[in-house]
Amino acid sequence: INYATFFISLIAVVVSIYHQRHSEARKSAQLIKASITDDLTGIPNAVEFAQKAEILLKTTETSKLIYLFFNIANFRTYNDHLGYEQGNALLKKLAEGFATVFENDIYGRMSDDHFMVLTRIDGFEDRIEQMRQILKKECTDELYLELKVGGYRPAENSNPRSDIDRARYAVHSISHHADKTYIEYDKKMHEEFHLRQHILNNIDKAIREDYIQVYYQPVVWSDDKKLCGCEALARWDDPEFGFLSPGAFIPILEECRQINKLDLCIYEKVCKNLREKLDQGEKIFPVSLNFSRLDFELMDAVSELERLVEKYRIPKEYLHVEITESALTDETNTLKTAIDTLHKKGYSIWLDDFGSGYSSLNVLKDYNFDVLKIDMVFLKNFEDEQVKGNARKIIGTILDLACALNMKTLTEGVESEEAARFLTEKGCGRLQGYFYGKPMAFEDIYKAINVGKLTISDEIL
Ligand code: C2E
Ligand code: MG
Ligand code: MG
Repeated sequence: INYATFFISLIAVVVSIYHQRHSEARKSAQLIKASITDDLTGIPNAVEFAQKAEILLKTTETSKLIYLFFNIANFRTYNDHLGYEQGNALLKKLAEGFATVFENDIYGRMSDDHFMVLTRIDGFEDRIEQMRQILKKECTDELYLELKVGGYRPAENSNPRSDIDRARYAVHSISHHADKTYIEYDKKMHEEFHLRQHILNNIDKAIREDYIQVYYQPVVWSDDKKLCGCEALARWDDPEFGFLSPGAFIPILEECRQINKLDLCIYEKVCKNLREKLDQGEKIFPVSLNFSRLDFELMDAVSELERLVEKYRIPKEYLHVEITESALTDETNTLKTAIDTLHKKGYSIWLDDFGSGYSSLNVLKDYNFDVLKIDMVFLKNFEDEQVKGNARKIIGTILDLACALNMKTLTEGVESEEAARFLTEKGCGRLQGYFYGKPMAFEDIYKAINVGKLTISDEIL
Protein backbone atom coordinates (compact mmCIF):
# COMPACT_ATOMS: atom_id res chain seq x y z
CA ILE A 1 0.00 0.00 0.00
CA ASN A 2 2.86 2.33 0.90
CA TYR A 3 4.54 1.73 -2.45
CA ALA A 4 1.27 2.32 -4.34
CA THR A 5 0.61 5.60 -2.44
CA PHE A 6 4.16 6.73 -3.06
CA PHE A 7 3.88 5.87 -6.76
CA ILE A 8 0.54 7.71 -7.21
CA SER A 9 1.89 10.79 -5.36
CA LEU A 10 4.95 10.78 -7.55
CA ILE A 11 2.85 10.68 -10.72
CA ALA A 12 0.67 13.53 -9.37
CA VAL A 13 3.75 15.65 -8.65
CA VAL A 14 5.22 14.96 -12.10
CA VAL A 15 1.93 15.80 -13.84
CA SER A 16 1.57 19.02 -11.86
CA ILE A 17 5.14 20.08 -12.66
CA TYR A 18 4.52 19.31 -16.33
CA HIS A 19 1.35 21.44 -16.36
CA GLN A 20 3.09 24.30 -14.61
CA ARG A 21 6.01 24.25 -17.06
CA HIS A 22 3.66 23.95 -20.02
CA SER A 23 1.57 26.92 -18.97
CA GLU A 24 4.72 28.96 -18.23
CA ALA A 25 6.05 28.15 -21.69
CA ARG A 26 2.73 29.15 -23.24
CA LYS A 27 2.67 32.39 -21.28
CA SER A 28 6.21 33.29 -22.26
CA ALA A 29 5.47 32.49 -25.92
CA GLN A 30 2.46 34.82 -25.66
CA LEU A 31 4.61 37.46 -24.03
CA ILE A 32 7.26 37.19 -26.76
CA LYS A 33 4.55 37.48 -29.39
CA ALA A 34 3.06 40.50 -27.64
CA SER A 35 6.44 42.18 -27.45
CA ILE A 36 7.03 41.81 -31.18
CA THR A 37 3.59 42.47 -32.62
CA ASP A 38 1.68 45.68 -32.71
CA ASP A 39 -1.29 45.48 -30.31
CA LEU A 40 -3.72 47.28 -32.57
CA THR A 41 -2.99 45.87 -36.00
CA GLY A 42 -1.29 42.56 -35.28
CA ILE A 43 1.54 43.25 -37.73
CA PRO A 44 5.19 43.43 -36.52
CA ASN A 45 6.04 46.35 -34.28
CA ALA A 46 9.19 48.50 -34.42
CA VAL A 47 11.29 45.96 -32.48
CA GLU A 48 10.32 43.06 -34.71
CA PHE A 49 10.71 45.15 -37.84
CA ALA A 50 14.28 46.12 -36.89
CA GLN A 51 15.19 42.52 -36.10
CA LYS A 52 13.79 41.20 -39.37
CA ALA A 53 15.44 44.03 -41.30
CA GLU A 54 18.79 43.19 -39.75
CA ILE A 55 18.51 39.59 -40.92
CA LEU A 56 17.41 40.57 -44.43
CA LEU A 57 20.27 43.05 -44.77
CA LYS A 58 22.73 40.28 -43.93
CA THR A 59 21.33 37.90 -46.50
CA THR A 60 20.50 40.25 -49.39
CA GLU A 61 22.58 42.67 -51.44
CA THR A 62 21.85 46.02 -49.76
CA SER A 63 21.92 47.92 -53.07
CA LYS A 64 18.74 46.07 -54.06
CA LEU A 65 16.79 47.26 -51.03
CA ILE A 66 15.12 50.44 -49.93
CA TYR A 67 13.48 51.52 -46.66
CA LEU A 68 10.19 53.35 -46.91
CA PHE A 69 8.75 55.31 -44.00
CA PHE A 70 5.01 55.93 -44.38
CA ASN A 71 3.17 58.74 -42.68
CA ILE A 72 -0.43 59.82 -43.15
CA ALA A 73 -0.84 63.55 -43.44
CA ASN A 74 -4.00 64.83 -41.76
CA PHE A 75 -4.55 61.69 -39.70
CA ARG A 76 -5.01 63.74 -36.54
CA THR A 77 -7.91 65.66 -38.07
CA TYR A 78 -9.42 62.33 -39.15
CA ASN A 79 -9.22 61.09 -35.57
CA ASP A 80 -10.62 64.33 -34.20
CA HIS A 81 -13.58 64.33 -36.57
CA LEU A 82 -14.51 60.68 -36.68
CA GLY A 83 -13.26 59.46 -33.31
CA TYR A 84 -10.56 57.05 -32.24
CA GLU A 85 -12.55 53.92 -33.11
CA GLN A 86 -12.73 55.01 -36.73
CA GLY A 87 -9.08 56.05 -36.65
CA ASN A 88 -8.11 52.63 -35.34
CA ALA A 89 -10.19 50.93 -38.03
CA LEU A 90 -8.30 52.92 -40.66
CA LEU A 91 -4.94 51.88 -39.20
CA LYS A 92 -6.03 48.22 -39.26
CA LYS A 93 -7.07 48.53 -42.89
CA LEU A 94 -3.73 50.05 -43.77
CA ALA A 95 -1.92 47.28 -41.92
CA GLU A 96 -3.82 44.74 -44.03
CA GLY A 97 -2.80 46.74 -47.09
CA PHE A 98 0.87 46.56 -46.09
CA ALA A 99 0.58 42.83 -45.50
CA THR A 100 -0.78 42.37 -49.01
CA VAL A 101 1.19 44.89 -51.03
CA PHE A 102 4.48 44.09 -49.27
CA GLU A 103 3.72 40.42 -48.80
CA ASN A 104 7.24 39.39 -49.80
CA ASP A 105 8.95 42.18 -47.88
CA ILE A 106 9.40 43.35 -44.34
CA TYR A 107 6.86 45.73 -42.88
CA GLY A 108 5.74 46.96 -39.49
CA ARG A 109 3.97 49.69 -37.56
CA MET A 110 6.36 52.04 -35.77
CA SER A 111 3.83 54.09 -33.81
CA ASP A 112 0.69 56.18 -34.40
CA ASP A 113 0.16 56.51 -38.15
CA HIS A 114 3.74 55.59 -38.99
CA PHE A 115 4.52 52.42 -40.90
CA MET A 116 7.82 51.16 -42.18
CA VAL A 117 8.81 48.85 -44.99
CA LEU A 118 12.06 47.34 -46.24
CA THR A 119 11.41 46.38 -49.82
CA ARG A 120 13.10 45.59 -53.15
CA ILE A 121 14.03 48.68 -55.14
CA ASP A 122 12.63 47.06 -58.20
CA GLY A 123 9.10 48.45 -58.62
CA PHE A 124 8.89 50.11 -55.21
CA GLU A 125 7.14 53.16 -56.71
CA ASP A 126 4.26 50.94 -57.87
CA ARG A 127 3.86 49.54 -54.41
CA ILE A 128 3.74 53.08 -52.94
CA GLU A 129 1.04 53.89 -55.48
CA GLN A 130 -0.97 50.84 -54.43
CA MET A 131 -0.83 52.00 -50.81
CA ARG A 132 -1.88 55.48 -51.92
CA GLN A 133 -4.93 54.00 -53.64
CA ILE A 134 -5.85 52.05 -50.51
CA LEU A 135 -5.70 55.23 -48.46
CA LYS A 136 -7.60 57.21 -51.08
CA LYS A 137 -10.60 54.91 -50.68
CA GLU A 138 -10.81 55.94 -47.03
CA CYS A 139 -11.01 59.66 -47.76
CA THR A 140 -14.31 61.46 -47.64
CA ASP A 141 -15.17 64.77 -49.31
CA GLU A 142 -14.50 66.61 -46.08
CA LEU A 143 -11.54 64.59 -44.88
CA TYR A 144 -8.62 64.36 -47.16
CA LEU A 145 -5.85 62.00 -46.13
CA GLU A 146 -2.55 61.96 -47.92
CA LEU A 147 0.23 59.44 -47.99
CA LYS A 148 3.74 60.74 -47.37
CA VAL A 149 6.70 58.46 -47.91
CA GLY A 150 10.38 58.92 -47.09
CA GLY A 151 12.89 56.60 -48.72
CA TYR A 152 16.36 55.60 -47.58
CA ARG A 153 18.75 53.32 -49.47
CA PRO A 154 20.73 51.34 -46.90
CA ALA A 155 24.51 51.36 -47.03
CA GLU A 156 26.80 48.40 -46.38
CA ASN A 157 26.80 47.50 -42.66
CA SER A 158 23.61 49.49 -42.19
CA ASN A 159 22.03 49.66 -38.77
CA PRO A 160 18.21 49.40 -39.04
CA ARG A 161 17.59 51.79 -36.15
CA SER A 162 19.47 54.69 -37.67
CA ASP A 163 18.15 53.73 -41.14
CA ILE A 164 14.61 54.11 -39.83
CA ASP A 165 15.50 57.51 -38.35
CA ARG A 166 16.84 58.66 -41.71
CA ALA A 167 13.77 57.58 -43.65
CA ARG A 168 11.66 59.29 -40.97
CA TYR A 169 13.72 62.45 -41.30
CA ALA A 170 13.16 62.42 -45.08
CA VAL A 171 9.38 62.09 -44.79
CA HIS A 172 9.29 64.85 -42.20
CA SER A 173 10.68 67.27 -44.79
CA ILE A 174 7.59 66.89 -47.03
CA SER A 175 4.92 66.67 -44.37
CA HIS A 176 3.69 70.16 -45.27
CA HIS A 177 4.14 69.92 -49.05
CA ALA A 178 0.74 69.13 -50.44
CA ASP A 179 2.04 68.16 -53.87
CA LYS A 180 4.68 65.62 -52.78
CA THR A 181 4.13 61.97 -51.90
CA TYR A 182 7.67 60.66 -51.97
CA ILE A 183 11.11 61.99 -51.10
CA GLU A 184 14.42 60.22 -50.75
CA TYR A 185 17.04 60.92 -48.12
CA ASP A 186 19.89 62.68 -49.95
CA LYS A 187 23.28 64.18 -49.24
CA LYS A 188 21.91 67.56 -48.18
CA MET A 189 19.48 65.92 -45.81
CA HIS A 190 22.29 63.78 -44.49
CA GLU A 191 24.31 66.87 -43.58
CA GLU A 192 21.30 68.48 -41.90
CA PHE A 193 20.43 65.26 -40.10
CA HIS A 194 24.00 64.81 -38.93
CA LEU A 195 24.12 68.38 -37.61
CA ARG A 196 20.78 67.94 -35.91
CA GLN A 197 21.89 64.76 -34.15
CA HIS A 198 25.13 66.44 -33.20
CA ILE A 199 23.35 69.43 -31.69
CA LEU A 200 20.97 67.32 -29.67
CA ASN A 201 23.67 64.94 -28.47
CA ASN A 202 26.08 67.73 -27.61
CA ILE A 203 24.09 70.60 -26.14
CA ASP A 204 25.11 69.68 -22.59
CA LYS A 205 28.73 69.23 -23.57
CA ALA A 206 28.72 72.49 -25.54
CA ILE A 207 27.55 74.33 -22.44
CA ARG A 208 30.03 72.52 -20.19
CA GLU A 209 33.01 73.02 -22.50
CA ASP A 210 32.21 76.64 -23.36
CA TYR A 211 31.47 76.05 -27.05
CA ILE A 212 28.48 78.31 -26.45
CA GLN A 213 29.44 81.96 -26.60
CA VAL A 214 27.59 85.23 -26.29
CA TYR A 215 28.00 87.86 -28.95
CA TYR A 216 26.84 91.39 -28.31
CA GLN A 217 25.33 93.65 -30.93
CA PRO A 218 25.32 97.40 -30.21
CA VAL A 219 22.06 99.34 -29.95
CA VAL A 220 22.35 103.13 -30.14
CA TRP A 221 20.10 106.09 -29.37
CA SER A 222 18.98 107.59 -32.65
CA ASP A 223 19.55 111.20 -31.53
CA ASP A 224 23.18 111.13 -30.35
CA LYS A 225 24.17 107.63 -31.59
CA LYS A 226 25.53 106.75 -28.16
CA LEU A 227 25.42 103.14 -27.01
CA CYS A 228 22.24 102.48 -25.03
CA GLY A 229 22.62 98.73 -24.83
CA CYS A 230 23.49 95.52 -26.61
CA GLU A 231 21.55 92.47 -27.66
CA ALA A 232 22.96 89.15 -26.46
CA LEU A 233 23.08 86.68 -29.36
CA ALA A 234 24.10 83.05 -29.04
CA ARG A 235 26.92 81.46 -31.06
CA TRP A 236 28.13 77.85 -31.00
CA ASP A 237 31.80 77.38 -31.80
CA ASP A 238 31.91 73.65 -32.45
CA PRO A 239 35.14 71.65 -32.82
CA GLU A 240 33.57 69.50 -35.55
CA PHE A 241 31.11 71.83 -37.31
CA GLY A 242 32.85 75.16 -36.82
CA PHE A 243 31.17 78.43 -35.98
CA LEU A 244 27.39 78.08 -35.96
CA SER A 245 24.82 80.88 -36.08
CA PRO A 246 21.63 80.65 -34.06
CA GLY A 247 19.66 79.85 -37.22
CA ALA A 248 21.47 76.49 -37.31
CA PHE A 249 20.77 75.36 -33.75
CA ILE A 250 17.94 77.37 -32.18
CA PRO A 251 15.07 75.88 -34.24
CA ILE A 252 16.40 72.38 -33.50
CA LEU A 253 16.70 73.05 -29.78
CA GLU A 254 13.22 74.53 -29.76
CA GLU A 255 11.75 71.62 -31.66
CA CYS A 256 13.31 69.16 -29.23
CA ARG A 257 12.45 71.26 -26.18
CA GLN A 258 16.03 71.86 -25.08
CA ILE A 259 16.19 75.61 -25.76
CA ASN A 260 15.96 76.50 -22.06
CA LYS A 261 19.40 74.96 -21.47
CA LEU A 262 20.98 77.27 -24.02
CA ASP A 263 19.09 80.34 -22.87
CA LEU A 264 19.98 79.80 -19.24
CA CYS A 265 23.62 79.44 -20.23
CA ILE A 266 23.46 82.74 -22.18
CA TYR A 267 21.80 84.60 -19.30
CA GLU A 268 24.46 83.38 -16.89
CA LYS A 269 27.32 84.35 -19.22
CA VAL A 270 25.83 87.83 -19.67
CA CYS A 271 25.46 88.32 -15.90
CA LYS A 272 29.02 87.10 -15.39
CA ASN A 273 30.39 89.48 -18.03
CA LEU A 274 28.58 92.44 -16.51
CA ARG A 275 29.67 91.53 -12.98
CA GLU A 276 33.32 91.35 -14.07
CA LYS A 277 33.17 94.84 -15.55
CA LEU A 278 31.39 96.20 -12.46
CA ASP A 279 34.09 94.67 -10.28
CA GLN A 280 36.74 96.33 -12.43
CA GLY A 281 34.98 99.64 -11.83
CA GLU A 282 34.02 100.01 -15.49
CA LYS A 283 30.83 101.49 -16.82
CA ILE A 284 28.37 98.89 -18.12
CA PHE A 285 25.47 99.02 -20.58
CA PRO A 286 22.08 97.21 -20.54
CA VAL A 287 21.87 93.88 -22.31
CA SER A 288 18.73 92.49 -23.85
CA LEU A 289 18.18 88.75 -23.55
CA ASN A 290 16.20 86.66 -26.02
CA PHE A 291 13.51 84.50 -24.46
CA SER A 292 11.90 81.66 -26.30
CA ARG A 293 8.22 80.92 -25.66
CA LEU A 294 9.30 77.47 -24.48
CA ASP A 295 11.54 78.93 -21.79
CA PHE A 296 8.38 79.73 -19.86
CA GLU A 297 7.12 76.17 -20.25
CA LEU A 298 10.32 74.24 -19.72
CA MET A 299 11.59 76.11 -16.71
CA ASP A 300 10.50 78.72 -14.23
CA ALA A 301 12.11 81.42 -16.38
CA VAL A 302 11.26 84.25 -14.00
CA SER A 303 12.81 82.55 -10.96
CA GLU A 304 15.86 81.48 -12.95
CA LEU A 305 16.47 85.04 -14.08
CA GLU A 306 15.96 86.36 -10.57
CA ARG A 307 18.39 83.77 -9.21
CA LEU A 308 21.12 84.90 -11.62
CA VAL A 309 20.45 88.57 -11.00
CA GLU A 310 20.90 87.97 -7.27
CA LYS A 311 23.92 85.71 -7.68
CA TYR A 312 25.81 88.26 -9.80
CA ARG A 313 24.21 91.33 -8.19
CA ILE A 314 23.13 92.94 -11.46
CA PRO A 315 20.85 96.01 -11.28
CA LYS A 316 17.62 95.02 -13.04
CA GLU A 317 17.57 98.01 -15.34
CA TYR A 318 20.64 96.49 -17.01
CA LEU A 319 18.74 93.43 -18.25
CA HIS A 320 15.93 93.60 -20.77
CA VAL A 321 13.69 90.75 -21.78
CA GLU A 322 13.07 90.22 -25.51
CA ILE A 323 10.13 88.09 -26.50
CA THR A 324 9.56 87.42 -30.13
CA GLU A 325 6.20 88.22 -31.61
CA SER A 326 5.62 84.67 -32.86
CA ALA A 327 5.88 83.40 -29.27
CA LEU A 328 2.70 85.19 -28.36
CA THR A 329 0.33 83.25 -30.56
CA ASP A 330 -0.48 80.59 -28.00
CA GLU A 331 -3.71 81.00 -26.16
CA THR A 332 -2.55 80.04 -22.70
CA ASN A 333 -2.02 82.56 -19.95
CA THR A 334 1.42 81.28 -18.93
CA LEU A 335 3.29 83.83 -20.95
CA LYS A 336 1.01 86.70 -20.08
CA THR A 337 1.39 85.96 -16.38
CA ALA A 338 5.18 85.65 -16.74
CA ILE A 339 5.38 88.97 -18.59
CA ASP A 340 3.31 90.69 -15.89
CA THR A 341 5.53 89.20 -13.17
CA LEU A 342 8.72 90.29 -14.94
CA HIS A 343 7.26 93.76 -15.26
CA LYS A 344 6.40 93.90 -11.58
CA LYS A 345 9.89 92.74 -10.70
CA GLY A 346 11.31 95.69 -12.61
CA TYR A 347 12.46 94.36 -15.98
CA SER A 348 11.82 96.16 -19.21
CA ILE A 349 10.00 93.92 -21.72
CA TRP A 350 10.67 94.26 -25.43
CA LEU A 351 8.58 92.86 -28.25
CA ASP A 352 11.02 91.38 -30.77
CA ASP A 353 10.61 91.01 -34.54
CA PHE A 354 7.43 93.07 -34.73
CA GLY A 355 5.85 92.73 -38.16
CA SER A 356 7.47 89.47 -39.12
CA GLY A 357 4.59 87.24 -38.04
CA TYR A 358 0.82 87.17 -38.30
CA SER A 359 -0.35 88.34 -34.95
CA SER A 360 1.21 91.77 -34.69
CA LEU A 361 -1.70 94.04 -33.94
CA ASN A 362 -3.49 91.61 -31.72
CA VAL A 363 -0.37 91.24 -29.64
CA LEU A 364 -0.18 94.99 -29.10
CA LYS A 365 -3.74 94.99 -27.86
CA ASP A 366 -3.33 92.12 -25.42
CA TYR A 367 0.13 92.61 -23.94
CA ASN A 368 2.06 95.37 -22.29
CA PHE A 369 5.48 96.09 -23.79
CA ASP A 370 7.97 98.80 -23.03
CA VAL A 371 9.82 98.71 -26.33
CA LEU A 372 8.68 97.68 -29.78
CA LYS A 373 11.45 96.21 -31.94
CA ILE A 374 10.51 96.66 -35.58
CA ASP A 375 11.67 93.69 -37.61
CA MET A 376 14.41 94.13 -40.18
CA VAL A 377 12.17 92.87 -43.01
CA PHE A 378 10.94 96.41 -43.53
CA LEU A 379 14.45 97.68 -44.20
CA LYS A 380 15.33 94.91 -46.63
CA ASN A 381 16.46 96.47 -49.93
CA PHE A 382 15.73 99.88 -48.44
CA GLU A 383 17.89 101.61 -51.06
CA ASP A 384 15.73 100.22 -53.85
CA GLU A 385 13.51 103.14 -54.99
CA GLN A 386 10.41 100.99 -55.33
CA VAL A 387 10.79 99.35 -51.94
CA LYS A 388 11.74 102.56 -50.22
CA GLY A 389 8.40 104.32 -50.77
CA ASN A 390 6.34 101.53 -49.20
CA ALA A 391 8.87 100.76 -46.46
CA ARG A 392 8.87 104.40 -45.36
CA LYS A 393 5.08 104.50 -45.15
CA ILE A 394 4.88 101.24 -43.20
CA ILE A 395 7.66 102.06 -40.75
CA GLY A 396 6.29 105.58 -40.27
CA THR A 397 2.85 104.19 -39.46
CA ILE A 398 4.23 101.61 -37.01
CA LEU A 399 6.22 104.34 -35.24
CA ASP A 400 3.08 106.48 -34.91
CA LEU A 401 1.15 103.49 -33.59
CA ALA A 402 3.82 102.72 -31.00
CA CYS A 403 3.82 106.36 -29.91
CA ALA A 404 0.02 106.30 -29.53
CA LEU A 405 0.33 103.18 -27.40
CA ASN A 406 3.03 104.76 -25.24
CA MET A 407 5.76 102.36 -26.33
CA LYS A 408 9.35 103.16 -27.10
CA THR A 409 10.75 102.00 -30.42
CA LEU A 410 13.80 100.31 -31.92
CA THR A 411 14.37 99.33 -35.53
CA GLU A 412 16.54 96.32 -36.37
CA GLY A 413 18.62 95.76 -39.47
CA VAL A 414 19.88 99.34 -39.98
CA GLU A 415 22.57 98.92 -42.62
CA SER A 416 22.92 102.37 -44.15
CA GLU A 417 23.21 106.02 -43.28
CA GLU A 418 20.09 106.69 -45.32
CA ALA A 419 17.99 104.22 -43.30
CA ALA A 420 19.40 105.63 -40.05
CA ARG A 421 18.58 109.22 -41.08
CA PHE A 422 15.05 108.32 -42.09
CA LEU A 423 14.38 106.45 -38.82
CA THR A 424 15.82 109.27 -36.73
CA GLU A 425 13.66 111.85 -38.51
CA LYS A 426 10.58 109.68 -37.98
CA GLY A 427 11.26 109.50 -34.25
CA CYS A 428 12.44 105.92 -33.83
CA GLY A 429 14.23 105.95 -30.45
CA ARG A 430 16.83 103.22 -30.84
CA LEU A 431 18.72 101.79 -33.80
CA GLN A 432 20.39 98.41 -34.21
CA GLY A 433 22.13 97.05 -37.27
CA TYR A 434 25.39 96.39 -39.08
CA PHE A 435 25.74 100.13 -39.70
CA TYR A 436 26.49 100.56 -35.98
CA GLY A 437 28.14 97.22 -35.41
CA LYS A 438 27.80 93.52 -36.04
CA PRO A 439 27.41 91.12 -33.12
CA MET A 440 30.84 90.73 -31.48
CA ALA A 441 32.60 89.31 -28.42
CA PHE A 442 32.14 91.18 -25.14
CA GLU A 443 35.75 92.32 -25.05
CA ASP A 444 35.46 93.66 -28.61
CA ILE A 445 32.62 95.92 -27.50
CA TYR A 446 34.96 97.35 -24.84
CA LYS A 447 37.75 97.69 -27.40
CA ALA A 448 35.37 99.73 -29.58
CA ILE A 449 34.50 101.81 -26.51
CA ASN A 450 38.17 102.31 -25.63
CA VAL A 451 39.09 103.54 -29.12
CA GLY A 452 36.10 105.88 -29.14
CA LYS A 453 34.08 104.04 -31.81
CA LEU A 454 31.29 103.54 -29.29
CA THR A 455 30.36 105.68 -26.31
CA ILE A 456 28.21 104.36 -23.51
CA SER A 457 25.29 106.70 -22.96
CA ASP A 458 24.41 107.94 -19.49
CA GLU A 459 20.78 107.34 -20.35
CA ILE A 460 19.87 103.70 -20.31
CA LEU A 461 16.08 103.54 -20.32
P1 C2E B 1 16.83 88.54 -33.31
O1 C2E B 1 16.64 88.48 -31.85
O2 C2E B 1 15.85 89.33 -34.10
O3 C2E B 1 18.30 89.08 -33.51
C1 C2E B 1 18.70 89.91 -34.54
C2 C2E B 1 19.35 89.16 -35.64
O4 C2E B 1 19.54 90.02 -36.72
C3 C2E B 1 20.74 88.64 -35.29
O5 C2E B 1 20.96 87.46 -36.02
C4 C2E B 1 21.63 89.71 -35.86
O6 C2E B 1 22.93 89.29 -36.14
C5 C2E B 1 20.90 90.07 -37.11
N1 C2E B 1 21.18 91.41 -37.57
C6 C2E B 1 21.37 92.48 -36.79
N2 C2E B 1 21.61 93.58 -37.54
C7 C2E B 1 21.53 93.19 -38.81
C8 C2E B 1 21.69 93.90 -40.07
O7 C2E B 1 21.94 95.10 -40.12
N3 C2E B 1 21.55 93.17 -41.19
C9 C2E B 1 21.28 91.85 -41.16
N4 C2E B 1 21.15 91.20 -42.32
N5 C2E B 1 21.15 91.15 -40.00
C10 C2E B 1 21.27 91.82 -38.84
P2 C2E B 1 21.45 86.18 -35.31
O8 C2E B 1 22.47 86.50 -34.30
O9 C2E B 1 21.77 85.23 -36.38
O10 C2E B 1 20.16 85.69 -34.53
C11 C2E B 1 19.05 85.25 -35.21
C12 C2E B 1 17.91 84.99 -34.27
O11 C2E B 1 18.22 83.89 -33.42
C13 C2E B 1 17.65 86.13 -33.30
O12 C2E B 1 16.89 87.08 -33.94
C14 C2E B 1 16.90 85.42 -32.20
O13 C2E B 1 15.54 85.24 -32.55
C15 C2E B 1 17.56 84.08 -32.18
N6 C2E B 1 18.54 84.07 -31.10
C16 C2E B 1 19.82 84.50 -31.11
N7 C2E B 1 20.41 84.27 -29.92
C17 C2E B 1 19.47 83.70 -29.12
C18 C2E B 1 19.45 83.21 -27.77
O14 C2E B 1 20.42 83.30 -27.03
N8 C2E B 1 18.29 82.66 -27.32
C19 C2E B 1 17.18 82.56 -28.11
N9 C2E B 1 16.09 82.01 -27.60
N10 C2E B 1 17.16 83.01 -29.37
C20 C2E B 1 18.28 83.57 -29.88
MG1 MG C 1 16.15 89.52 -30.38
MG1 MG D 1 14.73 90.67 -33.73
